[in-house]
Amino acid sequence: FNEVPTGYPEPGKTTVYDETETIDLDNAPLNGGFLVKTLVLSIDPYLRGKMRDASVKSYSPAFEKGQPIENFGVGVVLRSENPKVKAGDHVYGIFPFAQYFIRPSFDGFRVLENKEGLPWSVYVGVAGMPGQTAYSAWKEYAKVQKGDVVFVTAASGPVGSFVVRLAKADGLKVIASAGSDEKCEFVKSLGADVVFNYKTTKTADVLAKEGPINIFWDNVGGESLDAALQYAARGARFLECGMISGYNGQAQPVNNLMMIVAKELQINGFLVFSLLPKYAEEFYREVPARIASGEFKFIEDVKKGLEFAGHAIYEVQAGKNHGKSVIQVAEE
Ligand code: NDP
Repeated sequence: FNEVPTGYPEPGKTTVYDETETIDLDNAPLNGGFLVKTLVLSIDPYLRGKMRDASVKSYSPAFEKGQPIENFGVGVVLRSENPKVKAGDHVYGIFPFAQYFIRPSFDGFRVLENKEGLPWSVYVGVAGMPGQTAYSAWKEYAKVQKGDVVFVTAASGPVGSFVVRLAKADGLKVIASAGSDEKCEFVKSLGADVVFNYKTTKTADVLAKEGPINIFWDNVGGESLDAALQYAARGARFLECGMISGYNGQAQPVNNLMMIVAKELQINGFLVFSLLPKYAEEFYREVPARIASGEFKFIEDVKKGLEFAGHAIYEVQAGKNHGKSVIQVAEE
C-alpha cells in the first residue's frame, strides 16, 4: 500500500508491486508458525475502504503504508511447526499480498478439505467470504414469505448471484440489475425473472412495473436504493450489504428516506464477520457440495500474476470485473 487515493484506486500509485523482499523457503525460521505458498487472492469491494488514512476509524483496520495489503486467500503449507496445520494442507484466511509468507498463529485460518475438488479460487468466492455474506444474511434477515418479490443489485457478482439463487430456491420472484448486457445474460441464466441493465434502463421504471418489492438486497446504495425505497411494500425487509456507488468519493443522494417510516420498513445493515460464527460450520457442510452439483453457478474474472492486483482492485470498484475477481498467484 503506497498512497491513499482520493477517487478510484490507481495501480502503480495507490498500490505498488515490488520484488525487493525475498524469503529462504528451506531455512527461514518459523518460530512455531507455518510457511505458506499463496495460490489465489481475492479482490473485494471493501478493500477500497481500507485504503484510507490510518487515523480514520472504521469496522476494518486501514492498510499500513509501505506494507503489503491483505485479503482472503488460499495457499498450500510448505513447512509447519504449528500443530494445527501440516505441510501439504490447503489453508484459507487473511493473506498478505505476497507469493510466500510465514504466520506465527493459526488463528483466523482454516484448513480446506475440498472433498468436492472445486478449483481453489472458488473458496475466495461463492465458497468463501462473499458466499458466506449472502448465505448468512439471507438466513438471518430475509424473513421470506410466500409470494415475496425480491430486488437484487450488482447481481452478477459473487454476493448478488448467490442471493439470486437463494431467492429462487425459496420460490420467489426475483428482479435483478447489473451494469452490462453481458452481465445481465449471466444473471438471467441464474433464473432471475426480470433482469435489466441499470445503465440503460431506469431502476425506478422497472420497479414501478414489477414491484412493489418485499425484500431488497442492496449492494450498491444511491439511486437504486432510492428507487427501492419508493417501490417497497409495507413492512419490506432491506438487507443493507454494501453501497459501492459511494466507495470512490461520488456518493449519490438518497431522497426517499421518509419511506422507512411511512412503510414501516425493516432496515438491516450487517457485516459478514459478525454473522459468520453462527453460520460458518453449516456453510462449509452444505455449500461446497451445492456448488459442485451446479446449483450455485458463478463466473470468475481471473488475472494471472500478483503484479496485476492493483489493476483488479481498480476494476472491481469501476464495475469492469466480469464475475468474482481473483488473482491467480501460482499454480499448485
Ligand atoms: P462484485 O464482484 O459484484 O463487484 C462489485 C460490482 O459493483 C461491480 O462489478 C459493479 O457491477 C458494481 N458497481 C460498481 N460501481 C457501481 C456503481 N457506481 N453503481 C452501481 N453498481 C456499481 O462485488 P461483490 O459481489 O464481492 O460485493 C457486492 C457488494 O457486497 C459490495 O457492495 C460489497 O461491498 C458488499 N459486501 C458486503 C459484505 C458485508 O459483510 N456487508 C461482505 C462482502 C461484500 P455492475 O457492472 O453490475 O454495476
